[in-house]
Amino acid sequence: MRKFFGGIAVISLVAALAVRAEDKTAAKGPDEDGTKPALVKIAGEGMLDSHAFQYLTELSDDVGARVTGSPQAQKAVEWGQAKMRTMGLENVHAEKWQLWRGWTRGTAQAELLTPIRRPLHVDAMGWTGSTPAGGAEGDVVEVNMFDLDDEMKNISRLSGKVALVVTRGEPKKSLIQLFAQFGDFLRAAGKAGAIAVIGGQGGGKAEGMSLTHTGILGFDADFAMPVVSMSAEDQSQLERYIGRGLTAKVRFSIQNAFTNGPVESANVVGEIRGRENPEQVLVVGGHLDSWDLSEGATDNGMGSTCVLGAADAIVRSGMKPRRTIRFVLFTGEEQGIDGSFAYVKQHQAEMANHLGSLILDNGQGPVRAFQLGGRDDLVETFKPFAAALAEIREVKVDDKVEDGTDTLPFSMAGLPGINMDQDSPDYKYTHHSAADALEAVRPDVLAQDATLMALAAYWIADRPERFATPWPAEKTVKMLTAQHEDAMLKAFGLWPKAFADIEKKDLPSN
Ligand SMILES: [Zn+2]
Repeated sequence: MRKFFGGIAVISLVAALAVRAEDKTAAKGPDEDGTKPALVKIAGEGMLDSHAFQYLTELSDDVGARVTGSPQAQKAVEWGQAKMRTMGLENVHAEKWQLWRGWTRGTAQAELLTPIRRPLHVDAMGWTGSTPAGGAEGDVVEVNMFDLDDEMKNISRLSGKVALVVTRGEPKKSLIQLFAQFGDFLRAAGKAGAIAVIGGQGGGKAEGMSLTHTGILGFDADFAMPVVSMSAEDQSQLERYIGRGLTAKVRFSIQNAFTNGPVESANVVGEIRGRENPEQVLVVGGHLDSWDLSEGATDNGMGSTCVLGAADAIVRSGMKPRRTIRFVLFTGEEQGIDGSFAYVKQHQAEMANHLGSLILDNGQGPVRAFQLGGRDDLVETFKPFAAALAEIREVKVDDKVEDGTDTLPFSMAGLPGINMDQDSPDYKYTHHSAADALEAVRPDVLAQDATLMALAAYWIADRPERFATPWPAEKTVKMLTAQHEDAMLKAFGLWPKAFADIEKKDLPSN
């Protein structure tokens, strides 16, 4: 985040005005490029007659939790298509793709047996396994997430034990490398005969009073070992016993089910076709899938219903953009950004005609920044549009790559994978937890976020000049490396061969 001190802000404002006066080719905003009257109509529909919270209420209470590949997620796919058809989007359809494996949560029970007896609060992490049917008991032993190399050397000590992941001392590798290595650790612990692993937060404590947070432990990663998130209160109690040299004995019964093979999922797609260049496409998206400890209102019912609310506001405004706006409700985000990776693959031949993507997936707060997904060349172009929103809200612009949601595949394709960053201080409690319910969302904030999404979408699709064309891969590789995304992508095996070949070419030959 950029922070401005009072004095510097004044100086830079004066300097900016001076540059603006000289530079006749300065980027045009809605006041100069002819888009303003349409944006005023769309803002009126979005702010004064929003349907977004009504959509979120239906999705949360009538569809509910929607884990990718589950029957509930299929119901959400049908619900999304029905909403799009009713509001009058064109070409509404589902685009199928395959998830490597399906998973269903069963029960998760844990009990402290010694030094005192009481139940413990746990939930299984997604795509992790089960204890024997009757449960299993063992002593709790600590495992230091910051030194997994050492832990793997002594893995046999976990036989018949429950491993409690903690963080001690300084990390021996980057946190990304450690998280990637955690998968190797879980497989080794399974082979060594560990009963279960308490490690949902990678050694950090679960945020919130007596909350657990589920989630996946890698990209498309599944583990036979049962792994749980435990409430911070219970985890701290276990740590105190171990710190005092006492034996904490626990009983775990965790039951989950995997499918034998791949399962089908689908992204939901609907369009407002462009009036001049319908072949040019801006993707506007959020993810429809959720976790299952509550109803997924903030992650990412919020984003899904921003997409639907934005589409509805534009349709009702009667305005037709020059280029096509394609609204996409992705699935499989929670398992490894799978739906949007599938979209980019399925639309490979059409990617040269894409303008970028606009995604919201950072909880329940108001929008605070448009992050242009690595495209520093577009920041100055975008700023006059953001400035035009000042009477709704101050929204900053930067070129950060967001690698934690459906923006990533678009940034990797050299397009602006635009992240609508939000100010969501409570999201650390609600995401992936039992608190991810409709109560967490304020209707006025949702209406405003959906309106900002509608305005940004329409402006990008309708401005006279094309907003963006994809960068060549060489430039994208440089950008991803400069933004330090390469380490994460390589650690999780997501760095494409084409990118690796480019890197090899760039090495000085000797
Ligand atoms: Zn999400």
